[in-house]
Amino acid sequence: MSTLPKGRAVVTGASSGIGAAFAERLAGRGHPLLLVARRADRLEALAADLRGAQGVDVQVLVADLEDPAGLAATEARLADPDIAILVNNAGGGGLGPSAAVSADQIERTLRLNVLALARLSHGALATFRARGGGLLINIGSVMAHAPSAGGAAYSGSKAFVLNFTRSLAMEHAEGPVRVQLVMPGPIRTEFFSSQGLSDAVFPDSAYLTPQQLVDAALFGAEAGETVTVPSLGDPTIWDRMEAERQAFMGAVGSGQVAARYRVA
Ligand code: NAP
Repeated sequence: MSTLPKGRAVVTGASSGIGAAFAERLAGRGHPLLLVARRADRLEALAADLRGAQGVDVQVLVADLEDPAGLAATEARLADPDIAILVNNAGGGGLGPSAAVSADQIERTLRLNVLALARLSHGALATFRARGGGLLINIGSVMAHAPSAGGAAYSGSKAFVLNFTRSLAMEHAEGPVRVQLVMPGPIRTEFFSSQGLSDAVFPDSAYLTPQQLVDAALFGAEAGETVTVPSLGDPTIWDRMEAERQAFMGAVGSGQVAARYRVA
């Protein structure tokens, strides 16, 4: 039996890829849904399929989360005490060498990946605390750990998602509200094509399907994980990274300028 909190699940970016797969899997577990994205036709088609196949109530909110009005409309819906799960999945953008990316593109990427995710997290957590439970799932990326030429705004935005979500998870460690960061590696979606890019950037063998990613993410959520990296086979790699990170934090509190920076 599912251990996810009972109630409506809100999925942003539900019109394709990972978001659509979350919608399918959560409907399959009996959750009523609110699906959010810009493409009304895609959302309505998915909603009709899920109502028919799963018999759950599916609502649609057509909203551009880069736009203050679209974001405010989505935030307002999160105040409904029936909402038990938020999947902050909508994201992307800003890929390309910084000289070829406009300042407006960078701003749009940050509005979606950072500002919208942060405001919606904040709104959902207030609702969850008031109702005595809930689950926030934020979709980050392994790119949070990969500063990369051609991915400055995107990897930077996902580094925000990493630290923001892990910090929220620490604040809610005692429950009953749960917070999970999911970090996909390459996933076969419209992510690259929608930005005019080829997904040949990674070898075929590197990709998971959105369904594989979401099944692993929900397995992690049900197991109470705060960080889920579905394609990481050896979890001790993460443990070693964490140990090194903590060693780094311990070392930078030395109160001394490192010897290599001292003028002779
Ligand atoms: P996708 O198929 O392109 O889906 C992106 C979704 O976000 C779509 O539903 C899109 O819907 C929605 N969206 C985009 N801009 C929006 C906006 N301004 N307002 C509202 N919704 C918006 O890509 P995906 O791979 O499923 O991406 C989902 C998440 O996974 C993103 O956060 C991405 O960064 C992350 N991720 C993906 C990969 C990968 O390899 N695919 C790897 C790591 C992390 P509309 O266009 O209809 O608005």
